[in-house]
Amino acid sequence: MRFYIMTLFPEMVTNGLNTSIIGRAAEKGILSVEAVNIRDYAFNKHNSVDDYPYGGGAGMLMQAEPVYQCFQAVKEQLEEDSCGSGREAPGSSGKTRVIYLSPQGKTFNQELAQELAQEEDLVFLCGHYEGIDERVLEEIVTDYVSVGDYILTGGELPAMIMVDAISRLVPGVLHNDVSAEFESFQDHLLEYPQYSRPEIWHEKRVPEVLLSGHHANIEKWRREQSVIRTAVSRPDLLEKAELTEEERRLAEEAAGKTAEKMP
Ligand code: SAM
Repeated sequence: MRFYIMTLFPEMVTNGLNTSIIGRAAEKGILSVEAVNIRDYAFNKHNSVDDYPYGGGAGMLMQAEPVYQCFQAVKEQLEEDSCGSGREAPGSSGKTRVIYLSPQGKTFNQELAQELAQEEDLVFLCGHYEGIDERVLEEIVTDYVSVGDYILTGGELPAMIMVDAISRLVPGVLHNDVSAEFESFQDHLLEYPQYSRPEIWHEKRVPEVLLSGHHANIEKWRREQSVIRTAVSRPDLLEKAELTEEERRLAEEAAGKTAEKMP
């Protein structure tokens, strides 16, 4: 999988993503992360890429042309890289998705991460200042994605969050693909609590069932814990979760107990 990140701060992105699991996956050639500097496509002698917004208002806006030229360069590179690989080049019917990180976009979640992990290539566009001239967004962007209802100074951190979450779903990136399978949000449930050695820590014992070696009982306990946790912390997720009658009762009971404790 290839990620292209259009940004004014390429070193922020590469420093952040070329370490740990993602860095190792890139070294192994399972994925690649390329940060492309929008400033390289500035068209004036001051190398500036921003200007005042028409109509007035606070702050500066990234101009359309440098972003557009930067995208053209990414597109050419994608076409070159796709040559002979059998992949669809951007602009063809299987259009490469170009994601603009924006607080106005659809909120990123595990479902979207899974959807995007199926793509061969992804292009991210990071805004800065007050954002980007609307006209270039209309021309090149396919998806608007937010990381939450708050305003950051730039799209770099959101892009890194997305690349991280998507990458770990790409086969071969995690040591063991099973570890990505049983995690929070996978079945619209939060993950069960986990414990490691020692068996007793600060007088707290690891739940007995986990020491039993009885796999069916362990699975049953974990599933129940997931249902209880989700009912208590994220009841909204349960609307989409597939639960048995018994699990529904367990969830209602857990939610009821939490409500009782509320002042
Ligand atoms: N004026 C814009 C607005 O109100 O929608 C916000 C601009 S913000 C200060 C600058 C850039 O940071 C945006 O263009 C976007 O790329 C990025 N950004 C800020 N908050 C974000 C969020 N919650 N999710 C994704 N990107 C965000």
